[in-house]
Amino acid sequence: MKLSTPLRYWLQPETDEAIDREIDAANLRTMRRFAVIIAIVETIALTAYSLIHLHTLGDPRILQTILRVFLIILCSGAAFFLSRKMLTDDKTPRFGHRTTNLIVSIILLIFALWGMVVSIGHYSNGEQMVTFYTVMLAMVVFFRLRPVVSIPIVGVTSILFYIYLEFFVRSGMIHPFNYALLVLILLGGAIVSYRLSVNTIQQKNRIEELNITLEQMANHDSLTRLQNRYALNRKIPDFLGHEICLAMLDIDKFKHINDTCGHHQGDEVLRSVSDTMKTVFAPDCVYRYGGDEFLIIQSDTTMEAFSAQLLAINERLNKHSSAPNALEISVSYGAVCVTPTSPNSFLEAIAKADAKLYEHKQRNHEAIS
Ligand code: GH3
Ligand code: MG
Repeated sequence: MKLSTPLRYWLQPETDEAIDREIDAANLRTMRRFAVIIAIVETIALTAYSLIHLHTLGDPRILQTILRVFLIILCSGAAFFLSRKMLTDDKTPRFGHRTTNLIVSIILLIFALWGMVVSIGHYSNGEQMVTFYTVMLAMVVFFRLRPVVSIPIVGVTSILFYIYLEFFVRSGMIHPFNYALLVLILLGGAIVSYRLSVNTIQQKNRIEELNITLEQMANHDSLTRLQNRYALNRKIPDFLGHEICLAMLDIDKFKHINDTCGHHQGDEVLRSVSDTMKTVFAPDCVYRYGGDEFLIIQSDTTMEAFSAQLLAINERLNKHSSAPNALEISVSYGAVCVTPTSPNSFLEAIAKADAKLYEHKQRNHEAIS
């Protein structure tokens, strides 16, 4: 059946797997609490009832009531353990959405039928029918049930309840209009409650996605996807007190590439050098420090091993450069191994590596000229 857009919005909200699983987890947690509360309340009621009727416990009507209360305590206990077992240790549903939904619906239907039976008994005695409406209200307010589940459970049990009371217990005592209004409010509440939950989860997930994007944008350079200076500054405290090797790298004659091949080609070279560095070092060790300057920080290493890795960058760039029509690309670098004890000593280490880079550049220029 094809529903119009507004009806679909309320009666058949579109959800993805993540939303369904979040709602299932929330329903299982609610079921756990709901079952515990019913078990506690009914145990207190059973104890009080048994004490009050201590001398007439043999009476079949009293025994029947005790049995009925005992049965719901058992059911609540089973619902508690089942809903607990259906959640994994990290609080996610153990089974798929359909199975979880079906089990939660069956348990709620059992509670609704129990509420009906108890309230029919109360109605017959001229008392208020609090149990049935409490179960209905809890279902609407605390559970997040798809309308396709909540409408049959609330609607059908309410109609059955009315028919039974009107035609089999005492007719004319319930005003049909008032009763219909109450059922409509319950149904409306269930539909709105589900819709609001879906909206809240959708908005929360969207904010989380945006946060990840913002975090990514703030910490990474958009051209090379390497971490930027902002990311480096945030990480400085992690390096203090640890032995690290760091290197400053600079692309050789990069201005010339820009001037002769254009900025676009220059951007391609920056990306290619960055990708090459990421094949030699872990991506979270490499930073774009400035224009064509990069910083690499590696812990748990030695100067020997670190130097070999730096050498590997030029070897790999050299391999690319040997392809026909490829640009000749190489980097110069300066490296130091230190144990920074303060942000200043960390920045001093960078300055030292930069000075070594400068020396390296000078040597290269002298070798060429
Ligand atoms: P050297 O061998 O001494 O390092 O000489 P060089 O030509 O590489 O000189 P330098 O490192 O000073 O050049 C940096 C150039 O990088 C200057 C600037 O125009 C260019 N540049 C900086 N950022 C970008 C960028 O994002 N894209 C492009 N295409 N060029 C950039
Ligand atoms: Mg350069």
